[in-house]
Amino acid sequence: MNFFPPEIDAYAEAFTRAEGEVLAALNRETWAKVLTPRMLSGHLQGQVLRMFSMMMRPKSVLEIGTYTGYSAICLAEGLAEDGKLITIDINEELHDMVLRYLEMAGLTGRVSAIVGNALEVIPTLQGTFDLVFIDADKENYATYFDLVIDRTASGGFIIADNVLWSGKVLLADSELDRETIALKDFARKLKDDPRVETVLLPIRDGLLVARKV
Ligand code: SAH
Ligand code: CA
Repeated sequence: MNFFPPEIDAYAEAFTRAEGEVLAALNRETWAKVLTPRMLSGHLQGQVLRMFSMMMRPKSVLEIGTYTGYSAICLAEGLAEDGKLITIDINEELHDMVLRYLEMAGLTGRVSAIVGNALEVIPTLQGTFDLVFIDADKENYATYFDLVIDRTASGGFIIADNVLWSGKVLLADSELDRETIALKDFARKLKDDPRVETVLLPIRDGLLVARKV
């Protein structure tokens, strides 16, 4: 998942804002109790997402793929004063933990965590989004993009995680699995779409940032 030497990651973390008590506790509890804790954004990426959100000061954020709520909390910290974040996850088992940490972070009123299949939930949501973070099932990234692009404000951003997929995007065509193919198709689709301009940041597992023009 990490492309930089461990010493460089450690140096980058050392000069990055600390995650704070609530995020540190969520990080620990996720690693101690929850399956596949590698999915959690973690310190450096969490602070990158928080900083992006702080730069944008979005009024409305949509996150697809809550998991234990780590990235939701980071993104919510940058919300405009009256801003709201909606986060969706299909896994109901994590919902109580998510709500508990949102409460601890003082975000209960500003974040709504919806349990459901994002493919079904997104079409039921009202309004437009200033920032969308796509981080759920990789095979549906392109569909999520199609579902949100017309609902993303002009000048707004769509950020997708794990677009380097541990480097598997570089494997020969014959070695690609479905998720890797989907992620490669997704990156190509956005690159070719005149409605967005893109930059792929090789942070952690790869963040694709798309700005709606
Ligand atoms: N954003 C989180 C990590 C998300 S992990 C963080 O950075 O900390 C990916 C999540 O996507 C998992 O919790 C999984 O349950 C969820 N997911 C997978 N398919 C989904 C779907 N169709 N709809 C909503 N959530 C989905
Ligand atoms: Ca992720």
